[in-house]
Amino acid sequence: MQSLYRLGVAEVVQGVTSREFSAEEYIHQLLERIERVEPKINAFITVSKSSIDQARIIDRKIRDGEKVGPLAGVVVAIKDNICTKGMRTTCASKMLDDYVPPYDATVVDRLQQAGAIVIGKTNMDEFGMGSTTEFSRHGATRNPWDINKVPGGSSGGSAASVAALECTVSLGSDTGGSVRCPASFCSVVGFKPTYGLVSRYGLVSYANSLEQIGPLGKTVSDVASVMNVIAGFDEKDNTTAAGRPSYSVDKRPLRVGLVKEFVEGADEQVSKIISNSLDVFAKVGCQCEETSVASVQYALPSYYTIATAEASSNLARYDNIRYGFDMNPEGYEWNTYFSKARSNFGEEVKRRIITGSYVLSSGYYGKYYLKAQQARSILIRDLKSLFKKYDVLVGPTMPILPFNMGEKVDNPLTMYLVDVDTVVANLTGIPAISVPAGFARNGMPVGLQIMADAFCEQTLIDAASMFETEAKVQRSPEL
Ligand code: GLN
Repeated sequence: MQSLYRLGVAEVVQGVTSREFSAEEYIHQLLERIERVEPKINAFITVSKSSIDQARIIDRKIRDGEKVGPLAGVVVAIKDNICTKGMRTTCASKMLDDYVPPYDATVVDRLQQAGAIVIGKTNMDEFGMGSTTEFSRHGATRNPWDINKVPGGSSGGSAASVAALECTVSLGSDTGGSVRCPASFCSVVGFKPTYGLVSRYGLVSYANSLEQIGPLGKTVSDVASVMNVIAGFDEKDNTTAAGRPSYSVDKRPLRVGLVKEFVEGADEQVSKIISNSLDVFAKVGCQCEETSVASVQYALPSYYTIATAEASSNLARYDNIRYGFDMNPEGYEWNTYFSKARSNFGEEVKRRIITGSYVLSSGYYGKYYLKAQQARSILIRDLKSLFKKYDVLVGPTMPILPFNMGEKVDNPLTMYLVDVDTVVANLTGIPAISVPAGFARNGMPVGLQIMADAFCEQTLIDAASMFETEAKVQRSPEL
């Protein structure tokens, strides 16, 4: 029998709608695959058996000649901080251990309307705070290319499930790189849209001014197909921009700038692979040169100041009264109950809440939070002017190769440093994508990050797909 689990979006839709195979056959193959590889990878927190019923509904509609959507039969895995009606949504935290949302996030609703099937919820760092998917109540996710290495994070389950061929595509959330970092470490494509392009309704907030939901897939065309369904105005999220855009995969010569600061700060093997990517762009007729954005040096400290500040405020709602885990409030005085309940956050989350409260405190607000916002404005201004000269800016997604599990969990600062190249897009709101760029000597993947000006996703998709077609690095790990 054909290995259906290897197929991309267009092939699945074509196969299911032409009745070459059924959505049910396809989902069965994926569920079998999950059963086989999950003991090694641990990409999922919840696997949904009701996905089989969803597949049967699609098959019945096709048999009856009813209209089906553009993603008919496509199987998606959803990060566990995106609400799914009737399906547990834990954020990999004890605080939401039993939380079953009474509603779907807009992105989930749109995917299902388009005929996609939700296969389950993926593992992540607690509330999205981390870069390795090790800070999860459900155990760490492992990198499908080497199970002793981290898959990146915080959407590690979403990236690993795509790389390990456990779904067609997945959704992650990207506050400071959480879609692109694991995409790079697992050698898949990860897309962080412009702030305001994709609805955040139903996304559990970590740092609202920075984050966006974004797709991960095996190819640029797969993530573009998902964007076509999830992007656009949503009346339930008043930060979304007007319109419902639609993207295609085109080829055209672009002006490409390689950001010097990103390349210089990276591991030597990573820098080499990324610098070579310019030859790939040149070969397809792009105009390439090195450029510099000095203010990117302020990005990381600004990000960790703003992100923790917003997190400390967002996470204040977890009091274990309205939802949470089993802890009887009987006999407790309010403050004691509240602090005892909140001691159940993981170490990293507690660290963020404490840091965030500190940078917002009246004595230090000006010194930290305000300063970070000023640096953010400078960065926005500098990039805006650079995008007059270049259509896209490129560099490594991650400055280092995927590292060993456990290597950085006890050292928060070294963990934070790995986000140095991704946080720029979140602070400035611009779109960015990570595309597989090659492999290091130890067989570990390297991702190329491409950034474009706000709402220029079509340019980004064009650049990424030209690179993908020409560089031909995509392949799947042996599992
Ligand atoms: N690693 C970054 C952080 O911990 C980014 C996380 C994210 O994008 N959700 O904040």
